[in-house]
Amino acid sequence: MHCPFCGTQDTKVTDSRLVADGDQVRRRRQCNVCSERFTTYETAELVMPRVIKGDGSRETFDEIKLRAGMLRALEKRPVSAEAIEAAVERIRQRLRARGEREVEAREVGEEVMRALKRLDQVAYIRFASVYRRFQDLDEFRAEIDRLAQEPTIPPNDDQ
Ligand SMILES: [Zn+2]
Repeated sequence: MHCPFCGTQDTKVTDSRLVADGDQVRRRRQCNVCSERFTTYETAELVMPRVIKGDGSRETFDEIKLRAGMLRALEKRPVSAEAIEAAVERIRQRLRARGEREVEAREVGEEVMRALKRLDQVAYIRFASVYRRFQDLDEFRAEIDRLAQEPTIPPNDDQ
């Protein structure tokens, strides 16, 4: 950490405490060269990446829209609200974990398909048929066959 007064890198932390209900770390520092004191705050960066749409325009990540799309696919399926929320949260985490400022809408769609595949295969097929715009029945059948051949993925295995 550079000293904001003289620019040296030679500074030390004299005090460190949690603030803002533990969401922030406040550190008192002192410069070993000019002896000035200063304070830094550290927070986790929880900003969601922006979404690049097919036409190249950008929009803010919209969790409500994401959830609505999943709920539509999951309509009348035996999946608990809790499991859906956990899946939404996992998608958010996975997108954030990329560490990118922007992600393509296609990648968000792939994450949703991945999540639905674990939650409910009927919902997955519903979503995939809209999302991938299956051209005909053969394409649709091929996807179902592919699904049938895949080994079942345990719900908490993130590989
Ligand atoms: Zn200094």
